[in-house]
Amino acid sequence: MFFPRGKILLAPLTTFKIGGPSQYYFQAENKPDLIEAIKWAKQKETPFFILGSGSNILVSDQGFKGLVIKCQMSAIKCQKQGLIYAGAGLPLNKLLEFSIKKGLAGLECLVGIPGTLGGAIRGNAGAFNHSISDFIKKVEVFNSKTLKVEEKDVKECKFAYRESIFKQRKDLIILGAEIQLEKGKREESKNKIRGYLQKRRKTQPKEPSAGCIFKNPPGLSAGWLIEQCGLKGFQLGKAEVSKQHANFIVNHKKATAQQVMGLIDFIKRKVKAKFGLDLEEEIEYVGFVPRGKRGH
Ligand SMILES: Cc1cc2nc3c(=O)[nH]c(=O)nc-3n(C[C@H](O)[C@H](O)[C@H](O)COP(=O)(O)OP(=O)(O)OC[C@H]3O[C@@H](n4cnc5c(N)ncnc54)[C@H](O)[C@@H]3O)c2cc1C
Repeated sequence: MFFPRGKILLAPLTTFKIGGPSQYYFQAENKPDLIEAIKWAKQKETPFFILGSGSNILVSDQGFKGLVIKCQMSAIKCQKQGLIYAGAGLPLNKLLEFSIKKGLAGLECLVGIPGTLGGAIRGNAGAFNHSISDFIKKVEVFNSKTLKVEEKDVKECKFAYRESIFKQRKDLIILGAEIQLEKGKREESKNKIRGYLQKRRKTQPKEPSAGCIFKNPPGLSAGWLIEQCGLKGFQLGKAEVSKQHANFIVNHKKATAQQVMGLIDFIKRKVKAKFGLDLEEEIEYVGFVPRGKRGH
């Protein structure tokens, strides 16, 4: 049942550990609750934001004026051979664990991505030359304009590098998805996972972050471009360009969203001056006063 809570600090609900409070907060454990929450927000003309694991967002220091709906729908079942249905709030590591238990292969490349299925579909998350879109058959969505549940097949999702229709159309809320996998060998999957995790440990920082800040420009690595500008280790307040991976900004305990934002602007200016390229953010801004493309 939908019952909004008052103020709740958002920083602990993000991997960056940054951000002020939400005005209202609700954890949706199932689809009817999520739909009810959205209807409530629409009726009250209150902005709403769907939160997954908070691993691809920067929340402003002022927080979010509106309703934050934490998507917790984590149902999972094998529908028929190789076909899994999972709720949008299911963490990717649980999805991977389940698929391996069922002897299904394909999702190993997603190991170590700390997001939910919904967040991953929206941003077409991926690693090691694969993306979640390689395995999606259908996505079940709630259309918050028509207030109807719809299904989108993979073509309609318009997946591209870190892109999907769900990024362009904020009215489409992901409820769950059908994932098509191949039969595999558990030992092979486990070996792949070990290899991928080892690579991640070597290349990614351990401090709180939101993963890669920028998308890679076509044929180039954003991390390499930033490194060439001599910015590895560059700090603004407690926000630092990671010494390990220049496309990560890390939070040294008490960084503010304002410091991270300042660092992002600085990086963009430096890369533009040196290479004539405009870096585009992969992360999503939450609770910022709209400036250009910024802000929910
Ligand atoms: C250490 C680290 C490593 C990472 N490595 C990778 C990587 O290798 N590859 C990669 O692609 N990403 C990576 N990321 C980024 C991030 O984990 C992924 O983008 C992840 O898929 C985001 O999911 P989330 O649930 O955390 O989304 P959130 O951060 O909670 O939300 C992101 C956006 O998705 C929207 N959203 C969430 N759920 C729904 C829903 N049900 N319906 C509609 N919209 C929704 C939110 O409103 C928001 O706009 C990494 C992050 C960290 C911190």
